[in-house]
Amino acid sequence: MSISQLARSIAESPTLALNEEARLLRERGEPVINMSIGEPKNKAPITAILSSAAKLTSGDVKYTPPDGTPSLKKAIIRYMEENYDRMVAPENVIVSAGAKQSLYNVLFSILNPQDEVIILAPYWVSYPEMVKMCYGVPVIVTPEDGGFHPRMEEIERAVSSYTKAIIVNSPNNPSGCVFTDEFIAQIVDYCERKKIYLIMDDIYHKLVFDGIRAAPGYRFSNKDLESTMVIVVNGVSKLYGMTGFRIGWVVSNRKLVEVMTNIQAQTTSCTSVVLQAAAEGALTGMQNIVENLRLSFENNRDVIMQELCSFNGLRVTKPAGTFYILPDFRAYCPSSIANNSFELSQFLLKKALVVTVPGKEFGMEGYLRLSFAGSIKDITTGIERIKWALDPLAPNEIYIGDRKMVRDWS
Ligand code: PMP
Repeated sequence: MSISQLARSIAESPTLALNEEARLLRERGEPVINMSIGEPKNKAPITAILSSAAKLTSGDVKYTPPDGTPSLKKAIIRYMEENYDRMVAPENVIVSAGAKQSLYNVLFSILNPQDEVIILAPYWVSYPEMVKMCYGVPVIVTPEDGGFHPRMEEIERAVSSYTKAIIVNSPNNPSGCVFTDEFIAQIVDYCERKKIYLIMDDIYHKLVFDGIRAAPGYRFSNKDLESTMVIVVNGVSKLYGMTGFRIGWVVSNRKLVEVMTNIQAQTTSCTSVVLQAAAEGALTGMQNIVENLRLSFENNRDVIMQELCSFNGLRVTKPAGTFYILPDFRAYCPSSIANNSFELSQFLLKKALVVTVPGKEFGMEGYLRLSFAGSIKDITTGIERIKWALDPLAPNEIYIGDRKMVRDWS
């Protein structure tokens, strides 16, 4: 079979693959705990359900304009006003099948072959692959101090004449780090001066803790929407727990929206009208659903921090947002697996039936990403099992349900 060189070079999505592995194990009756999950467990907002159900029962389920229905775009415009303090026009907005497609459309529209995109480690797994899919070159910048917060000097050192864009994701998947206002101000100013696109992936922007706010990039730009280099990507997946509805959007200058609309028109035509109605229902319905999710994640964050603090030698940075935590297991694990997060993750899956995501996938070898989007019971049991599997002083055998688990380092 002949497969293109580019297609062959694109890696499987490890998070989706792990989710599938967890699902299959559970189907076989294994008491697996999925700490790899990247989605809230809530039911969809009732306003989203009613609005999409009404569209469906009308029987009038047809193509929409390629950039989205006027009424969903209106809801997004209101969202921008309320949450970003920016007036945007319908021509500045395009709706896609999730923020994933939104990001891909942006990259496809701005990159020439060999253009570079700066990606800040730890980074979301899909960024480097998407850049490659658009014939671009991902340039990874990892904080030299071993932390999770990027530094402007390090980013500036990585910029070359080929740099087309920088992707910023704050609150950050996988670290939970929320970048400081000072940093966002610096990077906005830098990108505006250097004419480098600043792609702000704001998909977790309201899931922040301890009374902080994730600063929107626009706040630090005095340019109007047609001349700013700031591009905003957002969606309903994480804030409303609507991952399965697949609705995301981009706000940018009109020219870029026009180009992305052409691309979308030639690839998917448009996003499903039923699902657009659902997103509209969520955006125009009661907003306490977002606050309730935020509060439950903050509580879960406190629980997982407390559980992880009992590991002697584990380095944990308290997440200020999202529903992920990225502990450094290097000093905690047996040396045979300490520097191989893939093996560590496989070991935990086999020995303790806990699904985690290897830090390597996010550019952080030796770390594991744990999701705290599950129930408190999942969190406490999952961490207890990880501790049992890795603690040399723990008993060699335990029972999980009626299944005897034997730990051995071989
Ligand atoms: N950006 C980041 C940082 C994410 O974590 C995700 C989902 N895991 C996405 C974008 C894509 O979101 P969507 O479900 O809207 O495609």
